Amino acid sequence: MTEEKTTDPSTGNGQASKDDDPFAGITLDWVGGDAADTPFATPVGAVATQPGGPERSDHDDGRTESHMVIVGSGPAGLTAAIYAARANLKPIVLAGSAPGGQLMLTSDVENYPGFPDGVQGPELMNKMRDQAIRFGTRMVDVDVDRVDLSERPFRLWARGTQYRADSVVVATGASALWLGLESETRLRGRGVSACATCDGFFFRDREIAVVGGGDTAFEEATYLTRFATKVHLLHRRDTFRASKIMIDRAREHPKIEIHANTAVDEVLGDSKVEGLRIRDTATGDTTELGVQGLFVAIGYRPNTEAFRDWLEVGEDGYLVIHDETRSKIDGVFIAGDVHDHRYRQAVTAAADGCKAAIDAERWLEAQGIAEAATSTAW
Ligand code: NAP
Repeated sequence: MTEEKTTDPSTGNGQASKDDDPFAGITLDWVGGDAADTPFATPVGAVATQPGGPERSDHDDGRTESHMVIVGSGPAGLTAAIYAARANLKPIVLAGSAPGGQLMLTSDVENYPGFPDGVQGPELMNKMRDQAIRFGTRMVDVDVDRVDLSERPFRLWARGTQYRADSVVVATGASALWLGLESETRLRGRGVSACATCDGFFFRDREIAVVGGGDTAFEEATYLTRFATKVHLLHRRDTFRASKIMIDRAREHPKIEIHANTAVDEVLGDSKVEGLRIRDTATGDTTELGVQGLFVAIGYRPNTEAFRDWLEVGEDGYLVIHDETRSKIDGVFIAGDVHDHRYRQAVTAAADGCKAAIDAERWLEAQGIAEAATSTAW
């Protein structure tokens, strides 16, 4: 990417031309959705995937056994890979069929340290990926179908290939849930968002809506009052899952208006959000609400499918950690949003990946599996 451009999701400004838009005019998908539909080109240094198996590129030595296999290639997985690779552990990253995680699906990242002018999410992830490959990571863009963590070496299967690992870092992330409206998908990155911390700043002096009735929705609505002139909180029922204190705080806030029994039927606007068609779920009546932004806060789904039969899953569906990054299985470590429903930031996920790699390396060393590298390589 030659030039950084600020893309304001509240207006769509900066996306007028396909030539100067780093996303080639494609509507940005924050998170979730069908990975196979991800419209981005194969990242720099990627192993292009094809039906039937990944195609190997020049830097790919084809290894299927490693001291460490990392599952997931968001900030947690790639940071774990950078640390493990620099400790000579020659990690394999099973990066998923939509490598790079949630940041591949967003535009401006202005809160990742080290980028005073901001950075595009895909560019940041490609840099992390190149950094991991540079130190000897094998990167394979496949989804893990199943795992067997009953004995070591651990075994993981992806697209018919078996990978064997002395240690595993699970960094599969989480996906935001969406309403499932065509107009919501079309206007993602152009006024529709699932992350107030990331995009709230772009809605200064605008009127916006948040949909959801849980703690996330109330937290995001309260946070967004810092920027917006007014925040409409829309919930499909008249009772809320959110904690009483969060509801009371929102009720008392002069900028927040709570609309109970209210569903969003459509996001209005061609190239940016211009309003919502909302429906009274008690009467069926529909009206329009004039807002310039919609924050969808109806929950997250941690990506635990391949691991949930082996690892501890909390009541909230997230993986449970012990002692920072350990799972209940010796040699299996957990990092990033797949366990963290509290912070969910790129920088906290990256820090978690670092911790998991250090914990795994020290564990391998204690087992006599890998040479001590801690003192020289970290
Ligand atoms: P949540 O508690 O599952 O709430 C999701 C909300 O979205 C519900 O009100 C649900 O409505 C609504 N919803 C789901 N699907 C919908 C759809 N298709 N259309 C319209 N509305 C839909 O999720 P969350 O708020 O993300 O919270 C997840 C967990 O994290 C909770 O345990 C929460 O306490 C915790 N959390 C804590 C904090 C905090 O303590 N600061 C902050 C955020 C989250 P219904 O109620 O009708 O099902």
